[in-house]
Amino acid sequence: MAKLLSEPTFIPKFLDGAILSSGVGFSHFLIDAHYLFFRSELFQQTREQFPSVIIDPVTHGLQFQNTYEKPTFQQLPYSSVTDIQRVISDPTYRLNSLVVPVIDFQVTNQAAFIIAPYLCTDDVNSTIFSNNLTMLGETLYILNGRDSQPPLLAPICIGGNVLRDRRLTDYIIDCYKAEPFHSAVQGYFIIMVTDFDDRLADEDQLLGLADITYQLSQDKDVIINHLGGFGEVLNAIGASAFVSSPGGGETFSLKQLQQDSKNIRGRNHSLWRYVPELFDYISEDLLGPEEINYRCDCAGCANAGTFPSVYAARKIHFLIKRMAAIQLTTGMSRDEKIQNLIQRLSAAESLARGYVVNLGADIKVAHLTKWRRILEISRGWNYQQDDDELERLLQELG
Ligand SMILES: [Zn+2]
Repeated sequence: MAKLLSEPTFIPKFLDGAILSSGVGFSHFLIDAHYLFFRSELFQQTREQFPSVIIDPVTHGLQFQNTYEKPTFQQLPYSSVTDIQRVISDPTYRLNSLVVPVIDFQVTNQAAFIIAPYLCTDDVNSTIFSNNLTMLGETLYILNGRDSQPPLLAPICIGGNVLRDRRLTDYIIDCYKAEPFHSAVQGYFIIMVTDFDDRLADEDQLLGLADITYQLSQDKDVIINHLGGFGEVLNAIGASAFVSSPGGGETFSLKQLQQDSKNIRGRNHSLWRYVPELFDYISEDLLGPEEINYRCDCAGCANAGTFPSVYAARKIHFLIKRMAAIQLTTGMSRDEKIQNLIQRLSAAESLARGYVVNLGADIKVAHLTKWRRILEISRGWNYQQDDDELERLLQELG
C-alpha cells in the first residue's frame, strides 16, 4: 500500500474560521470529533473547500471527567463509555459501545481515514496499552467485513516519559509493525500526551519520538498530532504530516483535555505572534514588532503592513507561514530536506541569540540546538530489519 501523502505536509487543526479564510491549499485538515457539534456550520463550510477531513475520535477523553462532561462531547455516540475497566474486560461491551460507534461516526461524517479508538497511557506494560492493540485488531476485523471503507490509521497514544527508554520505543515499534496490523494499515496516527512540549523535552525524548516516526514511516504514512516546530523536524526525518493549530496550544496534553484551550501553557493568544524564522511564537510582552523590525508580506499581514494586530489575522499568518516553510523543501531528497532544515535551525539559533543579547529578550534557544542535533543523528539511521526477515537473510547467506 503506497503512502497517500507522498510529500510531507502540515495539517491544520480546525478551531474556527481561520482555515477557511487562509486561502492556503491544504490537502487535509483535522477536527476533534466533538468539535463537529461545537461549530458544525463552520465545519461544513470548511469541508466544502477542503474535502479531506481527518476526524480524531478523541476517545481518550473518556478517561477524564472534565472532558466527557462537556456538552459537545456528550453528543458523541460513544460518550457514555466511561467505565474504562469494563472496556478492557468486557469484549462485547467494548465492541458495541465503543469500537463500532467510533468507526461508524467517522464513516458517517465522511472522514478521509478511520482512526481506531484509543486510550492514553504512560506505561507500555499496562492493560490500557494492550487494550489499544486489541481495539486496533477489532477495528481491522470490522472493516474487513465491510465493503470499501476509508483507509485505517493505527493510533499510538503515548506519554513523553516512555520516549526516554529505547527498549520501550523499540517495543512500541515492534507491536505496531507486527502483523496483522502492518499490512492492513495505511499509516500511523501518533498522539502525543502527558504534557509533551517539543521545546522543553530533553534530547532523549525527542530522539525517541524521531526514532518511532522514522521506523514506522518506512512504507507507511505517519501523522503526528499535535506538535509545533519539531513537527518540521519529524517531516524531514520521515513523517508524512504533523498537525498543529493556529494560535497556540501546539502540543496536545492531558491538561489541554482538562481545561479551556484559552490559556494553555499560560499563553495569552492575542499577545503571541508566530515567527517562522524562530520556529516559534514570541510574545509581545517580550518583544514588540518595532523592536525586532519584523515585516511579513503574507496575505494575512498584507493589510496590516506589519504583524497583524487582530487575532484572526494572526492565525491566518500562522497557517500561511507554516505551510510555506513546509513547501520550501518540496521535491528534495530526504538528505537535502534534513540539510535545509539544519541550516534554517542554525539561522534561527543565531537570530534568537541576537534577540537575547541585543534586546535582552527572554527567548528560548536551547531547543533549536537539540532539534538540529536530532537531525544530524538521524542522517545515519537505517530501517530495522524485523527478526524473521533477518533470520531468513542469514540463512540465505549461510
Ligand atoms: Zn504574515
